[in-house]
Amino acid sequence: MRCYQLTGFGQDLAAREQPRPVPTGTEVLVKIGGAGVCHSDVHLWEGHYDLGGDRKLSFADRLKLPLTLGHESAGEIVALGPEVDDVTEGATCIVCSWIGCRECAACETGDEHLCTAPRFLGVNRDGGYADYVLVPHPRYIVEIGDLDPVAAAPLVCSGLTTYSALKKFGALLARQPIAIIGAGGLGLIALGVLKMLGGQGAVVVEIDPRKREAAMAAGALATVDPKAPDAGATLRQALGGSVLGVLDLVGSGETATLAVETLDKGGRLVIVGLFGGAMTLPVPLVPMKALTIQGSYIGSPAELRELVDLVRSHGLPATPIDRRPLAEAAAALTDLRLGRVVGRVVLTP
Ligand SMILES: [Zn+2]
Ligand SMILES: [Zn+2]
Repeated sequence: MRCYQLTGFGQDLAAREQPRPVPTGTEVLVKIGGAGVCHSDVHLWEGHYDLGGDRKLSFADRLKLPLTLGHESAGEIVALGPEVDDVTEGATCIVCSWIGCRECAACETGDEHLCTAPRFLGVNRDGGYADYVLVPHPRYIVEIGDLDPVAAAPLVCSGLTTYSALKKFGALLARQPIAIIGAGGLGLIALGVLKMLGGQGAVVVEIDPRKREAAMAAGALATVDPKAPDAGATLRQALGGSVLGVLDLVGSGETATLAVETLDKGGRLVIVGLFGGAMTLPVPLVPMKALTIQGSYIGSPAELRELVDLVRSHGLPATPIDRRPLAEAAAALTDLRLGRVVGRVVLTP
């Protein structure tokens, strides 16, 4: 089979030929129909996260190379290990890449995505930029019925990440609109997920006019250019006078600061984006405004099943999908890094 591997940080992905895996024990082999290209693949490729002030969080001692990237995999179940009897050969599925050790405190509560010794597909072990992906256990297979695997692949990371983050706003979603910062792949899918959750919608803050346009097409109530001089006031007005929820899908020092300064008393900021940088926070604002600042990282395997149930009854979110051949994996990463992608790139073998 073909696979596209990271062989060194900062180096172009390498095309490799490998034998097609044969599942043993509880393993399940999935033939890739679509593999989403996520912004965290760009971080993996670069080899670090930017922590601001010249500090970096390096992957060098945490990842073993070569590594086949791709943690948004969908396709067809084509072979089962001898111990597997609860999934159907030939069925269409997405693969939950968020595999934990099943022993740590996080895993014990079902939060395998927060595992201290993760075995994530496409991060800690080979993922879906390939013709096939080997899944260690059927519990990570989520059958999707007749949904298109190419359009469904992004549910695994961008869909789940926004679903889990939006749930953290609780009852606020149904009461009033929230602000979403960033209209990249995550922002556009968030608008669709928010609708499925019965939310009152969102005003999208985005610097790129093309992405603001895409946000309107994906159902944003309004968009705001954060570089405009009256951005804060425009955002407040578009939200109906009060700012109680901000979902930051960019996660830079600037965006988090904008959120903290704009939120009203009792407001909540949920930070998802990993763009990087540091934030200087006037500490008294946190108690005086009774702010909640919360991080959200992917979502649990159980939340992924909840999301798939929701999608199977409401249909897929209307996020633009940019289908490209698997052989263009390296170019897709470059385009994403340079901000040239609208919606989600999904590689198809
Ligand atoms: Zn991702
Ligand atoms: Zn664990």
